[in-house]
Amino acid sequence: MAEPILSIRGLTRDFGPFRAVDGVSLDIRAGSITGLIGPNGAGKSTLFNLLTGMLKPTSGTVRLNGQDVTGLPPDRLFAMGLGRTFQIPRPFARMSVLENVMLAPQGQRGEGILGPFLAPARVRDQEARIRRRALEVLDFVTLAPLADHPAGKISGGQMKLLELARVLMGAPSVILLDEPAAGVNPALTRILIDKIEELNRGGTTFVIIEHDMDFVMSHCDPVIALAEGRVVFQGTADEARANPVLLDAYLGA
Ligand code: ADP
Ligand code: MG
Repeated sequence: MAEPILSIRGLTRDFGPFRAVDGVSLDIRAGSITGLIGPNGAGKSTLFNLLTGMLKPTSGTVRLNGQDVTGLPPDRLFAMGLGRTFQIPRPFARMSVLENVMLAPQGQRGEGILGPFLAPARVRDQEARIRRRALEVLDFVTLAPLADHPAGKISGGQMKLLELARVLMGAPSVILLDEPAAGVNPALTRILIDKIEELNRGGTTFVIIEHDMDFVMSHCDPVIALAEGRVVFQGTADEARANPVLLDAYLGA
């Protein structure tokens, strides 16, 4: 196998006496759409928080493209090509959809810090460039018609697309999506899936936490299951379907 884009070894996170993620070792294949399933409280979101630097691991390592990135802060990881969305989107509700996308970090370190020292004309150029890019990204996720709407007034499904747009401002090579289809109507879920597949054809790797088994089984390969902080299954969607324990836990069979 080619070198995995994400290589996770012995990743563990304790909250006081409680071990939320317990010695997880996984290789995420570059170019895959990996599905991550498991019951509530299994540690899925905590795993994402560890991979993206929102939380520091108690022990274990994370490598991105072969480089040890364990414990690096989220902005560094974003600049290195690792993007994520949140289970509960938190847009700046009173700002417009476009402004929310423009605020996403650019994936180019230093700009934010140097901004105040740049000549005004350069600041204007930079803002115009970011605005153009934000409009392109909004167009891609089909939200361009809502660019000037307050972000707090769009639907839950549109907020998931807005989250994806924010991530795309960084031109990531890996995108972690936390329950992208939860509470989203079928039409917007379809758009989201189309966009994921289009980006994936262009080479973007995805890891997707999702409870919707139809979504996972039709679009994800491999499928990984977590329970009580541990990896309890790894295989293809067909193998997942044929696995009685998984069927019992997630498919209501
Ligand atoms: P999942 O996303 O699989 O539903 P989470 O990763 O959100 O699960 O949570 C895993 C477990 O870790 C849960 O029991 C949760 O209560 C606990 N947990 C998550 N974050 C924290 C935290 N910041 N402090 C204490 N416990 C936490
Ligand atoms: Mg979660």
